[in-house]
Amino acid sequence: MSYEHHVLNPATEELVATVPATSPKEVDAAVARAVAAQRTWSALAPADRARTLRRFAVQVDEHLEELAQLEVTEAGHTIGNARWEAGNARDLLDYAAGGVERLSGRQIPVPGGLNVTLLEPLGVVGVIAPWNFPMPIAAWGTAPALAAGNAVLLKPAETTPLTALRLAALGLEAGLPEGLFQVLPGAGDATGAALVEHPDVAKIVFTGSTRVGKHIMARCADRVKRVTLELGGKSPNIVFADADIEAAAAATPMSFLDNSGQDCCARTRVLVQRSAYDRFMELLAPAIERVVVGDPADEKTQMGPLISKVQLERVRSYVTDDLETVRGTAPEGPGFWFPPTLVTGVDPAAPVAADEVFGPVAVVLPFEDEADAIRLANATEYGLSGSIWTRDSGRAIRVSQAVRAGNLSVNSHASVRYWTPFGGYKQSGLGRELGPDALTAFTETKNVFISTEGSAL
Ligand code: NAP
Ligand code: MG
Repeated sequence: MSYEHHVLNPATEELVATVPATSPKEVDAAVARAVAAQRTWSALAPADRARTLRRFAVQVDEHLEELAQLEVTEAGHTIGNARWEAGNARDLLDYAAGGVERLSGRQIPVPGGLNVTLLEPLGVVGVIAPWNFPMPIAAWGTAPALAAGNAVLLKPAETTPLTALRLAALGLEAGLPEGLFQVLPGAGDATGAALVEHPDVAKIVFTGSTRVGKHIMARCADRVKRVTLELGGKSPNIVFADADIEAAAAATPMSFLDNSGQDCCARTRVLVQRSAYDRFMELLAPAIERVVVGDPADEKTQMGPLISKVQLERVRSYVTDDLETVRGTAPEGPGFWFPPTLVTGVDPAAPVAADEVFGPVAVVLPFEDEADAIRLANATEYGLSGSIWTRDSGRAIRVSQAVRAGNLSVNSHASVRYWTPFGGYKQSGLGRELGPDALTAFTETKNVFISTEGSAL
């Protein structure tokens, strides 16, 4: 039953490490350890839990470069991005630590007594992470769950278990109780499924494909297990003719090429008002060709390889020879390389324009007016992110209100910050992560009424 996973460097295809998978039996043992550790952890004084999480943040900070280099090696992320990602894990721990003493219930006026709500930890939380942002996504679930008094079992993606394992070791060094935060590498349909099915795992936090997310949600339904889903996206980048076209064109390449397009928020549908289309493309096409693709460890590199051969084949299957494209460059030889690619002249319903490709590929689609832009933006099952480029502030507000997505930005592509809420509309997800309410998502609310009318009642 038990097997090992080979972690490859996606830029070179060299073997980086061999990691044994966690069997379902070992998952049972890990859950039992987590249950015990959670009791110890939740009994600690809030300030003590907060201090331990801050020490964990300091550990991450002191090992930031090591973690970043590990991410470059196992995931092919550019070194600049990888440093940001390790820093994001650190910041999440710090931010969550600040919430421990502030996680309070309410007192609600009632006759004949005192009514209070208690926010209690759920118990053991399972976090199932993808390979596209291994450290941030692990931390988004783990940090607030721990802060709210839970234990965490993290199942990293098979392709990227190394930073997660290192984070757990740093947590132990920071003084987390043994068993409180464990990383369980292994296959989704074995190790991941064992977590989903386990009766003592109270909640699953899943990030990944919509297909697997729906399956997990259905499995959780059997036990009414809590679930948060962060799924795919096909986010619009809406450019109106009244926008600063130079700025909009300059910001477009990295809005879908960052992390080689393996980003659920990637702006992969570029919607451009027809009257500005030619000017916009004149500026965008050379900008795509100039993107520096290559060795992710080189500070000047803007885009690295895709994560795996499977992902490369998937991306290739969408960019068929009959398509009109503008392409950048990519290295030849070993590694899972695909060039930055813009697809033009396609129907909005074509697979490349409708599906989440999860690679460095965007389609450019013209629109006529504001109503047409909103219609096109919403013509998708997804609703994760989007950008609106315009100088008209009334229009910016109207379109922000009309686009059905969880994270929008105006004259910017920034939409992920650890202190603002993040999540999807429609089939992009369920629930929210990050932001001021992140800890609450890892609690149950208990209402307690205490009568002041004496014991006669
Ligand atoms: P995936 O299969 O959904 O993987 C996400 C995580 O779920 C991985 O840890 C995976 O383990 C695990 N998993 C898979 N099947 C499971 C099951 N039955 N029960 C419990 N856990 C399970 O995604 P993928 O195969 O890596 O990527 C496929 C596509 O998903 C991509 O091309 C992209 O379109 C999309 N995707 C989206 C995001 C996002 O951020 N929204 C992230 C990654 C991928 P394994 O590592 O063993 O598969
Ligand atoms: Mg998979």
